[in-house]
Amino acid sequence: LMHITADRIIAFVERVATSIKAERDYLTQLDAAIGDADHGLNLDRGFSVVLTKLPTVADKDIGTILKAVGTTLVSTVGGASGPLYGTAFLRAGMVIGDRQTIGAINLIGAFEAALEGIQSRGKSGRGEKTMIDAIAPGIEAFKAAHFRGIDLLEALEEGLVACEAGMQATIPMLATKGRASYLGERSIGHQDPGATSAYLMAKALVETVRM
Ligand code: ADP
Ligand code: MG
Ligand code: MG
Repeated sequence: LMHITADRIIAFVERVATSIKAERDYLTQLDAAIGDADHGLNLDRGFSVVLTKLPTVADKDIGTILKAVGTTLVSTVGGASGPLYGTAFLRAGMVIGDRQTIGAINLIGAFEAALEGIQSRGKSGRGEKTMIDAIAPGIEAFKAAHFRGIDLLEALEEGLVACEAGMQATIPMLATKGRASYLGERSIGHQDPGATSAYLMAKALVETVRM
């Protein structure tokens, strides 16, 4: 498989919404330990609204679809994660623009723009126990696999493995951004909720491309 079509992007967004709904309580429990117990609720609210907006962009280009997701998340998710994921989808949509299909190079550009958006909006970087700790290693591994000449799906699968490891690596980290940072040392020993939702989104992408 060489290319991802706009239809596939719609299917990806639907799969993210389904996964977030299924894991809503788990994400909220993770947030109860080191935050304010709303991460699953926040994202489920946002992606439920995204689902109602998808029909209006179903026949549009990939950039328009992703920008609609981003705008909806920014305006419907109250917590820190809404503006951060919203910015990520918006930036990815801007980089992809009016394409109807994308390949690995476009995906790398979109992922990197999304990550930059999160980092600039959150004034955050790796090692601070956030979604970035799952996303950044995932992108790096995907990119490295692609430049080794590996097929798109297999490269995405390698990215997902690194993303999951990055998510797990947040457990021993000390939080220095977001609500978890208020706990100081007590944030250690818990998996970051945002890193977990980022992994779920990456998993939804791989599953959609695998279909
Ligand atoms: P809130 O903390 O406002 O209730 P959520 O619970 O929805 O928002 O999201 C919390 C998640 O957001 C955290 O687990 C973390 O991954 C992510 N996060 C918070 N602040 C930042 C930041 N400055 N940069 C990157 N990610 C962040
Ligand atoms: Mg929260
Ligand atoms: Mg909150």
